[in-house]
Amino acid sequence: MRIRFLGTGAAEGIPAIGCKCAHCTRAREEGGRLVRQRSAVLFSLPGYELLMETPPDIRKQLDSYEIRKINGIFITHEHYDHSAGLEEFLYWQECVDLLVEPQLYRQLIRVNWGKQLPEITFHLDMHPGVAVHFNNFYFVPFAVRHKVPCYGLVLCEGKRKAAHAADSDKLLSNYARSLLSGVDVLIVNTPFFEPRKQESHISLEEAVALKEEIGVKRLILTHFNHHNLPYDELDDYIAPFEGITAAYDGLYIDV
Ligand SMILES: [Zn+2]
Ligand SMILES: [Zn+2]
Ligand SMILES: [Zn+2]
Repeated sequence: MRIRFLGTGAAEGIPAIGCKCAHCTRAREEGGRLVRQRSAVLFSLPGYELLMETPPDIRKQLDSYEIRKINGIFITHEHYDHSAGLEEFLYWQECVDLLVEPQLYRQLIRVNWGKQLPEITFHLDMHPGVAVHFNNFYFVPFAVRHKVPCYGLVLCEGKRKAAHAADSDKLLSNYARSLLSGVDVLIVNTPFFEPRKQESHISLEEAVALKEEIGVKRLILTHFNHHNLPYDELDDYIAPFEGITAAYDGLYIDV
């Protein structure tokens, strides 16, 4: 499968609006990998293009990466940076599968335009711990801890496994640890560098430790905010660790 990072920023993106911090200033002046749109990932599976998250930037992302085909959308949770771009699909040419947990679907349909959702998407219920089988691959959603109900996803194609832990904090269930053990690639959202009190996210330092703890072959970090290190400093920091990559907008990998 191919995994493509359409955006790798956290809720505010980089540069954040109105922010004059050194990181945002550099991003404005130098551009390139210092700039991060809100996070979205495209998983290309056999005969099925799965978009994970519809951030507010999704229109620009789909257009600039020339993505013309999406079969399904998986949304991890209701937060603005993960779901607000769903309305853009009113203008998408074809109906897409919307793979979301039922309570989250009810939440999405309650927003002011949400009653049109059934016209543009085919809702398929996703339940944590219940595999969804396709012709030659399958997904398993799993619950993670966050400020609101939130779901990660394990994707299995043949012997290859990739997983995305969404906006999980550092405390993963034993069930999730068991699913994630030995995966080829684990994608983790790490807005901050160091652990912060009252943050319902895993920090970059904690994610690096988690990789060894649960035995993941390759760790990809994403969903960075402007309080984290700029792209080049981040790359220098993780260089000594084996099998860890800091994602940037436009990065793709084959698993
Ligand atoms: Zn987020
Ligand atoms: Zn800033
Ligand atoms: Zn969130």
